[in-house]
This record gives sequence, C-alpha cells and structure tokens, in this order.
Amino acid sequence: MGYVWKRVLTPAASRLFLYLCIMIIKEEKLTIKEILDREDFTRENIISLLNSEGADRTLLLKKSADIKEKFIGNKVWFRGLIEFSNICSKDCLYCGIRKGNKNLVRYNLSDDEIIAAARFAYVNNYGSLALQSGELESPNVTSRIENLLYKIKDLSKGTLGVTLSVGEQEHKVYKKWYEAGAHRYLLRIEATNQALYNKIHPNDSKHDFNRRLGCLKSLQDIGYQTGTGVMIGLPFQSLDDLAGDLLFMKNFNIDMCGMGPYIEHVDTPLSAYSDELLPLKDRFDLTLKMIAVIRIMMKDINIVAATAMQAIDPMGREKAVKIGANILMPNITPGKYRDSYKLYDNKPCTEDSAEDCQSCLEARVSLADAEVVYGEWGDSKHYELRRSKEVSSK
Ligand code: SF4
Repeated sequence: MGYVWKRVLTPAASRLFLYLCIMIIKEEKLTIKEILDREDFTRENIISLLNSEGADRTLLLKKSADIKEKFIGNKVWFRGLIEFSNICSKDCLYCGIRKGNKNLVRYNLSDDEIIAAARFAYVNNYGSLALQSGELESPNVTSRIENLLYKIKDLSKGTLGVTLSVGEQEHKVYKKWYEAGAHRYLLRIEATNQALYNKIHPNDSKHDFNRRLGCLKSLQDIGYQTGTGVMIGLPFQSLDDLAGDLLFMKNFNIDMCGMGPYIEHVDTPLSAYSDELLPLKDRFDLTLKMIAVIRIMMKDINIVAATAMQAIDPMGREKAVKIGANILMPNITPGKYRDSYKLYDNKPCTEDSAEDCQSCLEARVSLADAEVVYGEWGDSKHYELRRSKEVSSK
C-alpha cells in the first residue's frame, strides 16, 4: 500500500498525505479532557463525549455544570405550562395524542379556563407562561390564539412573558402572534437526520421535514426566541444522529433547547419497536450527556429540564438542573385535563394541582442547589446577544 501511494504522489504530496494521516490518528486518540479543552467540537468529538463513562463522564458533567454556573448562574426560571388542548391534526408515530389514537378523551380548554390559568401564573409571579397544544391550522385557531395573547398581556399589564408551542404554522400566522405578544416559540424538530425523521413520521405531505425546517427559519426571521429539540433514544437512532442534532442546533443558532428521553406510548405505532430500545436508565443518562454537551457548545442558551426525565428518574429534573438546564415548566393546566395530555406513558405529576406543582418544583430546585427567580421573564441571553449582533451588522 505504502509503495503504491509513494509512486503515485509527488514527494510534497506524500508529506502532506502522511501529515493528514498522523492528524487523523491523533484526532482518534484525543482524551475526553483534550476534547473538553477545545473551543469547538467535531462530530467525532461529540460521539466520544456521548460515549463517555466513569471518570470521563464525570469530567463532562462537571465541565457543563461549571459553564452553567459561569454564564447563567444557579438560577432557574419558570414557564407556567398550560396544555390547553390535546386535539391534533397530525399522526406522529411516537406521540400519545396523535390523531389516530382513539383510546383518548379529547379536550379543549375554554378561553376562560386558559385565562384563569394565566392569572394563576401572574398572581404567583411566575414571570412567564407557555401555551402548548396539539397542532391545528385554521383561521379560527389563529384568531383564538391571537385574542388569548392580547388578553394575557392585558391581565398581566404586559408583565407575563409568553412562549408558544403549537406546531407548524404559516409565516404570517407566526407574525400575527408575535405582534400580539408571544416572544418565544418552541418547535421541536425531534430528529435532524431526515431519514430518521421520515421513519418516525407518516410518509405524507402533512409530516414534511423541510416544512418544519422552514417554520424554524420563519420564527427566527420574525424575531422570536427560537427553541428546538430532539428525542433521545429513539428506535433506529445512532450516536452519530445525536451528534448531528447538536451540531444542527449550534449551526442554526438556536436560543432555547428542549430535549428529553424518548419514552414509548403504548397506543402508538413506534411502541412496536420497544424491544430494540436502550434501557430507560441509559436513555436518561444519554439525555444528561446531551444536555451537558449542548450547554458546553452553546453556553448562554436556555435549556429546559424536561418532565420526561422525571418519568424515568424521580430526581431527573434536579439532575438536569445541576448539570446545565435552567428552565422548568410547572404544569398549571387544570387538574382534570392533565391525564389526557399524555405524549408518553408514565407521565409524572398528572394528579397534582398547580399549587402542588409549584411547591414540589421549588423543593426540587433547592435540592439542585439552585434558586427559582420569580417575576422575571428569564429570556435567553443568547438571544439578546444574537439580536444585538444582527442589529449592529445592519
Ligand atoms: S408530536 Fe405534536 S404534532 Fe405530532 S401528533 Fe403529537 S401533538 Fe401532534
């Protein structure tokens, strides 16, 4: 082999070839500490970090916790979560509230119930709320949400921040809602490898990967603090896919990240692959490492400690807060509807009242040596910096 390339290449090209080979071999031999000392991670670096065990894993989580402390502090902000409807027009193969699931009571909160929940968030000084539902697109839905936004701004005298998470919509709809007062939007891409995305969604125009990307771009262009995230531990998913997910978030310059372990729901097509999944505790651990790596890669974004983590580990959200997350979403949906918004099995806290949820989360936050900040929006610092750079470059 060596003889062949020496004959084909000039001496200078041979030296370059040898140099590149040495660099590649060196790259493969980087320790976790050496990777963590780098400014930027390659895809291979990220895979090594996600594979880390024992002392290496401890190093990764420690580095992430240190970065969180330095750039965010030990603070946690609340988003009072109102899951206002479980009616959805889509059929994502992993989701418990997919249109095709008939073993579910559908609900749609009245405007008065939503406003009462928003008032609870205001009176309890949460700073922000998040409106979430299944995905519906229609003029009625557009104007209903627009009106609700004006009412929420009105009742809180403009002091409640609002995150929306109601799926794919047209650019002009996002714009309308932005003008009505929503300023953050969470649209999880769920899987950034298009081949994997296609495996976990029906193969039709309603579940179009490129449209989802286009929606994320619209949100960013309009001026929203834009958040996305993925599921971790899906069937057919590799560490290479997860590394690609993190690089996508970095390249897209997201402001907020909400990702959690994939937990199967018995009434979904994807649950047929349960035997092929990592054990739940490994999905949890991989999620922790994903949070740690994205915190290191994007030091000043907001990261949610997902409720799904608590479904696997009773201390799941505390562990996420300790190593990198800074946002919690206490559920303030009226209790009688909670059980019907089950995206996955064993969702925790469905029996709790909004008050229970708040005191439970407060206790959990202090267990993580952190502190809840009341009365502030807790905007993404990354967003503030990104926008100021955009303005100064114009
Ligand atoms: S993941 Fe979202 S869009 Fe898909 S079925 Fe569930 S609620 Fe609907």
